[in-house]
Amino acid sequence: MLDINLITLSFQAPEVERSFRENYSRRFHYQSVLAMGLAVGLYCLFGALDWLLYPRLVEELWGIRYVYSLLPLLLIMLALAGRMYWRFSQQLMALSLIIGNLAIVAMTVVIPAEMNDVYVGGLMLVALYGYTVARIRFVWATAANWLGIVAYNLANVWWGDASEWELIAGNFFCVTTNFMGMVACYSMEYDSRRGYLLQQELKKERARLNQVNRRLEKQALTDDLTRLANRRSFFEHLHEEWRRAKRHEQCLSLIMIDVDYFKRVNDRYGHQAGDECLKQVAEALASHARRAGEVVARLGGEEFVLLLPGASAEAACEVAEAMRRDIAALDFVISGPVAGRGLRLTISCGTASAIPDDESTPESLLSRADQAMYDAKDQGRDLVVCQDIPVAGVASEA
Ligand code: GH3
Ligand code: MG
Ligand code: MG
Repeated sequence: MLDINLITLSFQAPEVERSFRENYSRRFHYQSVLAMGLAVGLYCLFGALDWLLYPRLVEELWGIRYVYSLLPLLLIMLALAGRMYWRFSQQLMALSLIIGNLAIVAMTVVIPAEMNDVYVGGLMLVALYGYTVARIRFVWATAANWLGIVAYNLANVWWGDASEWELIAGNFFCVTTNFMGMVACYSMEYDSRRGYLLQQELKKERARLNQVNRRLEKQALTDDLTRLANRRSFFEHLHEEWRRAKRHEQCLSLIMIDVDYFKRVNDRYGHQAGDECLKQVAEALASHARRAGEVVARLGGEEFVLLLPGASAEAACEVAEAMRRDIAALDFVISGPVAGRGLRLTISCGTASAIPDDESTPESLLSRADQAMYDAKDQGRDLVVCQDIPVAGVASEA
């Protein structure tokens, strides 16, 4: 059950009602304006009947049809085709119904009473148009059409020469057409309102799902502890940059980084302190990824990697050396039972570079950088070993 006024069909919440009306106007803009154009066209065509049935009265009938009613109807159409539609579409369309109804009522007074049926048919057509194709809202369509019935009765009682029975017969058709039209109009508007609410809920749900998706995607690519890119994300970047470097025949460099004797930190200060140290290492390493496409990732444990698209072997070696110096100079802050500062850690780095071709793979580049890093471990740690540099491949702290 919708939260609406069951007579006017308005939503109880004013802001929902406002946005529904906007949406409704947008949705039926073309239909309403086109339907009115069509209805006015038919209204003009029906003038032929005036001439065929009552050539004697054609002047009066055409005066009502083409002067007193067509002109205001055309003005309304002009207004509806312009900006007025967005503020007054319902009022203007209801006014067009009233004008149509009053014009036909005036014609029923002009013609002999026994021919009223033909023009009552006109009132029924206006009702049908107003309740359905014009997409006028229920309250407006109902008010405008019932005003037509009231006018039909008053005019024919005061000025017309229709008998009681002729009037009753006319009402019979008009009133039943109006009741049927009201049912159709009510249910169409009710469905529109229900559809609108469902659409809004769907929109909200979609936005929520998109947000959750974005968060999950981010989570799936981020390392929980350090907030750096994780292993999966690193491999995605590596393959992407590999393809790019191959296309542009550019050099791609990698630095493998492993914290030295990290097990001792855990053993001495506890796992939590170890975690804190890893975060601080990650932060320091991340500050070395400066250019677009450069990515620092945590491959696992105390092992990190830096991807340097476009960097030569020499440039990669320099970055690795800068990192090594940075970490060696860092005062690690530790909380917990053995809280304090002053813990020093070192890293061993291995670099490798390649201009991708058909023989090489990203994995081979990674394993060469890994090998270089193990060479650095073998040579005493706190070292950078650079593959692909012909002369001085090893940089070390004095
Ligand atoms: P090496 O210089 O040869 O690299 O010595 P190492 O002690 O750093 O290397 P090893 O591979 O023996 O030990 C790595 C340690 O890193 C073991 C493990 O306790 C620790 N470690 C791995 N992942 C985490 C983590 O997420 N948090 C903490 N606190 N410690 C971790
Ligand atoms: Mg280690
Ligand atoms: Mg390790």
